[in-house]
Parts: sequence; C-alpha cells; structure tokens
Amino acid sequence: MASVSAKKVFKSYGDVAVVHGIDLDIEDGSFVVLLGPSGCGKSTLLRMIAGLETVTKGDIEIAGRRVNDVHPKDRNIAMVFQNYALYAHMNVADNMSFSLKLAKRPKPEIDEKVTWAAKILNLEPYLKRFPRELSGGQRQRVAMGRAIVRDPAVFLFDEPLSNLDAKLRVQMRTEIKELHERLRTTTVYVTHDQIEAMTMADKIVILRDGRIEQIGSPLEVYDRPANLFVAAFIGSPAMNLLKGETVAAKDGLGVKSGDALLPLPKGVKAEAGRKVIYGVRPEHLDPVAQGDGLAAKVSVIEPTGPEIHIYAELAGEEICAITDERLQLKRDEIIGLKPKLDRIHLFDAESGNAIL
Ligand code: ADP
Ligand code: MG
Repeated sequence: MASVSAKKVFKSYGDVAVVHGIDLDIEDGSFVVLLGPSGCGKSTLLRMIAGLETVTKGDIEIAGRRVNDVHPKDRNIAMVFQNYALYAHMNVADNMSFSLKLAKRPKPEIDEKVTWAAKILNLEPYLKRFPRELSGGQRQRVAMGRAIVRDPAVFLFDEPLSNLDAKLRVQMRTEIKELHERLRTTTVYVTHDQIEAMTMADKIVILRDGRIEQIGSPLEVYDRPANLFVAAFIGSPAMNLLKGETVAAKDGLGVKSGDALLPLPKGVKAEAGRKVIYGVRPEHLDPVAQGDGLAAKVSVIEPTGPEIHIYAELAGEEICAITDERLQLKRDEIIGLKPKLDRIHLFDAESGNAIL
C-alpha cells in the first residue's frame, strides 16, 4: 500500500491548460473519489498518477517517491477503465493472469493468485469463458480481477461503472467498496456521479475546470459545502438556492428574496444589505400550515414511495421540498414551508463562498 500526492500539478495540451496547480494528499489505504462534471480534468489527473500522461509542471509522488519520470509499469499501480479493455481472444483466467505471465512469475504463483482473485470476485464458474460470453458486470469483475492479481500499491479507477445499467451499478458499487474494505489498497476512483462518490468515498475531491473546489468526507461536503458550486453539484434533488439581500429582521438578520423574508439563525456574521444566495436543501423545508412559514404555491407533486417531492413557487423561484408525510396536495394550492434554521446555508453572491 502507498500514499499518493500531487504537488502543484499543472497540465496543458499544447496551449490549452486543463489542470491548474492541484495539491492533493491521498492517505495510504484510503478510498478517494475525484468528482466533477465532464471535462473538469478528472481523467487527466488520474492518468498523470498512472503515468499515462506527462506532467506539465509539478510532481506526482507515490509512497513518497517522485514518479514523474517513472514508467507506468514501474509505478506499482493497476488501473481499471470504463470500457474494461479485456483481451477478447483470451478466456477469463488468461485475461487475469496475463500481466503475471508477462512479468514471468512462476506458474504456481500465477495459479494461486488467479484462484484467489476469482474467489473474491465470484468468477470461479467463469474462468474458461471468453469476454463475449459474460455480462457487463462479470466483465467489469474480470477487469478488477486483472488489477488485483498484481497486488498493486494503488488502484486507479476511471468511471468503471458507467457502462452498466442502473441496478448493476448499485451492486458493483457495493462490491468495489467491499473489495477495498478487504484489501485496504489505496484507491483513487474517478466519477461524475455524485451518488457513487457519496456512497463509496472516504474522502471526496470535488473538481471544476482543473481546480479543486473542496475536499472532505461525503457528509462534510454535503452538510458544509464551501461554495455555491459544491452546494449545487452535490445532492439530488439539488439544494434550493434563492437570490436575495440580508436585511435586519425581528431577531437579527433575515434574507429578503422577492416578496419573501427568509429566516436565518441567530448570530450570522454578515452586515445588512449584503447580496447573498440563501441555500436550503429540500429535506430541510418542512411543510407546515398555511400562514405559518413561507408561502409557496404548489406546482408539481412527485411521490417516490418513501417520500413526496413537492415542487412549488417561492419568491418567484421554483423550489423543492421533501416530506415523508402523506400530504394530499393539489396544484396551485398555497402551502407553508418552514426552513430548518440550523441547516440553512448562506453564500456571498459575488464570490460564491459560504458565509454560514
Ligand atoms: P474528465 O475526465 O473530468 O471528463 P478530462 O480529464 O478527460 O476530463 O479532460 C479535461 C480537459 O482536457 C477537457 O477539456 C478535455 O477536452 C481536455 N483533454 C483531455 N485529453 C486531451 C488531449 N489528449 N488533447 C487535448 N485536450 C485534451
Ligand atoms: Mg474522464
């Protein structure tokens, strides 16, 4: 096992700069997810760690050793890709043992490793099958098997579940996490799927346009997003974000947004008259009796089973509230919504940084 670090890492393709000075320390044995929208530089960063892309400026270290000039095969890493990249003409056992054969490992060792990996990944019945005779999930497991037989210091995953259907994705998520619990190999996992990141990571690194926006545990980035980008990116349905201005209210400050006065908890450190964005997650807006709370006009009601998602107009914006109460609501009905004061977010409108 090994730690992985990026020290002020930059990457340009010709004149186009795509990674702008990333500093990142990945602890030995941890599971770190690089999360961000398509094109933000996740794969580029991962490929620099793997040695599949050169580093324009800065250093990549694995186990404390600078590896900028070390060949990928000498970095003691194994990478799993979205498209599996299995050898079509080799059966499962041969796919898994290929790298060990290349490395001229003794046959008994190869057999032992392949048997071990097949057992962990539930591939024992399929060792003689060819990739075309396997389901998507089984192929993905073979790709993982190929990585684990090498017993690398670091696993690198680039959107490994993107080609699977929704149900299998959920199942493989758990399998990869279990594999990590078992092997404790340092893992860097790239995805644009925030649910995947939330459920699998010890630590999430949120990237945007080649820069880090926030690093934290899943619940840290969910409960305390550092800025508007993270607030809007993490969570589904997304956090409600309402433009407004701080005003003096009965007990301290409130936020005036359209015709609504949005409540803030006591002791917010901001002056009146500041342009802000008020953030409240759907699950922190409680439906209450009309006249109590903020008046909102119901537009769409979506029962999901465990909950009801209520879309409504508040201060001229469409917002979402979630409840597990079985409310009988009608379109155009006016309801009251009460924000949970201890779960309110407040961002500076100009910088986007969190104030609260
Ligand atoms: P992500 O994996 O987050 O979707 P990438 O790391 O693949 O993003 O890409 C980051 C940016 O770098 C994108 O704007 C992409 O177009 C650009 N890029 C990636 N690879 C190359 C390349 N080989 N040549 C030029 N531009 C590239
Ligand atoms: Mg990518």
